[in-house]
Amino acid sequence: MLDFAASTILISGAASGIGAATATMLAARGARKLILVDRNEDRLADFAFSLPCERALLIGDVADERLWASADLTGLTHAIVNAGIADSKPIVETSLADWRRTMAVNLDGAFLTLQAAMRAMKDRGGAIVLTASVAGLKAEPGIAAYGASKAAVIHLARIAAKEGAPQKIRVNAIAPGGVETPIWSELPFFTALAQEKGSEAAAFSAMASSATPLGRFAKPEEIAEQIAFLLSDKAAFTTGTCLVSDGGYSL
Ligand code: NAD
Repeated sequence: MLDFAASTILISGAASGIGAATATMLAARGARKLILVDRNEDRLADFAFSLPCERALLIGDVADERLWASADLTGLTHAIVNAGIADSKPIVETSLADWRRTMAVNLDGAFLTLQAAMRAMKDRGGAIVLTASVAGLKAEPGIAAYGASKAAVIHLARIAAKEGAPQKIRVNAIAPGGVETPIWSELPFFTALAQEKGSEAAAFSAMASSATPLGRFAKPEEIAEQIAFLLSDKAAFTTGTCLVSDGGYSL
């Protein structure tokens, strides 16, 4: 199934989790070239080595304008705006620096990545997916900056869809629920839970059983499959939507 033959695809946050799973899937589906963006140079280089297609590595912070000024996105056909970080503090304990750190990566970084992709696609069209989160749709305590950043990403995708339509650029968001990726190990409550339960797998299972009707978190490959669908011509009439893929968490 070579849906992505001859495509040039940008993926931010490509060294790990959902970004890496999507890169692997798109390379297997015929991508000609992947432009892989991440600030973790060693992990990205190790991972990219295994991919069976041409690849270009863009190392740096997605929230840094200089990264995008130097980026060569010639021939870009698809983009996945995916780099993100988590946080977990109640509002009263969140400093302005905490807030800005999350917003810088999740929202400023998404804006700059989206802008670079839309500029590169303006003459030939293309398809873009932004990785939001169900946390941008459902209010939960303790994730104000993260949830607000992801709600903004969902709306940014809608506006970009309207602005991009005349140039045949489709823009959609995806809102995953819990996904088994390393992002969770940044969160002190998760590392404490993993210690208490004996493993990260047991901690994922405990969290899913309490709040996700399907009783499990997703594997990153499952989210990659949904991203690939939104990017593909099978979704050619779909723009400005947010695909919720959360095992029923938001119900
Ligand atoms: P991950 O930590 O496995 O991967 C994120 C990647 O982004 C890492 O390689 C990291 O180095 C990179 N990154 C972070 N900040 C960056 C920056 N400023 N510049 C460049 N690269 C940067 O996490 P993941 O779970 O694969 O997350 C991918 C996206 O999915 C994120 O936007 C996240 O918010 C979203 N998401 C994740 C989950 C989940 O449960 N894992 C759920 C909903 C949404």
